[in-house]
Amino acid sequence: MSDVLSGLESMGLGNLSNIDLFNDKKSNASAEKKKEEKPEIKEPEEKDLIYIKKVECPCCGREFPEKVIRPGKVRMISQDIDLRPRYKELDTMKYNVTACPTCGYAALSRDFTHLSSGQARFVKEKISINFTGLKYDGDIYSYDEAISRGKLALVSTVVKRGKISERAYICLTLGWLTRGKAESIAEDVPGREAMLSQLSDEENGYLLKAAEGFTEALLKESFPICGLDEYTFFYLLSALDYETGRYSESLKFVEKILINRAVSERIKDKARRIKEAISEIRSS
Ligand SMILES: [Zn+2]
Repeated sequence: MSDVLSGLESMGLGNLSNIDLFNDKKSNASAEKKKEEKPEIKEPEEKDLIYIKKVECPCCGREFPEKVIRPGKVRMISQDIDLRPRYKELDTMKYNVTACPTCGYAALSRDFTHLSSGQARFVKEKISINFTGLKYDGDIYSYDEAISRGKLALVSTVVKRGKISERAYICLTLGWLTRGKAESIAEDVPGREAMLSQLSDEENGYLLKAAEGFTEALLKESFPICGLDEYTFFYLLSALDYETGRYSESLKFVEKILINRAVSERIKDKARRIKEAISEIRSS
């Protein structure tokens, strides 16, 4: 080593004369020690973040228990390109639907109570009459259960002639749940590649349906649609078109966003990232 530390031997510190001045190597021993000293903070399990709420079904009038996320217990850490929210603690989308286990009426939880007597009649005639019941014994919903509940909400919403945007949004959440399911498959699961490929196809199918429904909602509904203002909605459409490989359609929405001065920089930045991703794909 350099002479900088020469002479340390005389102080009994010859073992440090070769020490690297600017590159700290972590000592394993001290790291271990730190680990031991640190009090163990237990991350809450999914079941600890759920409680049971009594819900009255607006279709059949029966009361049933529903799993609900405890308010204030989960933190959103990021969003996917299509605005899918990611929470640190759990996938909140699994708890997005309320479903009556008796009559089969289901909806996005926020829309569950909005059911006219005419709509209830449609649900009874088309769903309840054949419905064989829902049975969930676990403390939490698995992805498969959540996807089944999402499908039940989708058919209920179609049967009750709910808004097109509501149907499209349920398709979008089914796409998100399918993505979540794919991400939850551990790397050492046998046949993982085949499962991922199938789930990717299924997700693509849901996203295409969502894009189709949202495009139709654009013609028939006024903003806000699904709680989104006009340009956030355009952004969502550009993202769905991008994800499903419909790049020209995606770029049309991107341009609408970029040429408008009133649109926030946050949305513009997101739109630019889609534009860049498409040019990269096209040039490769
Ligand atoms: Zn019911």
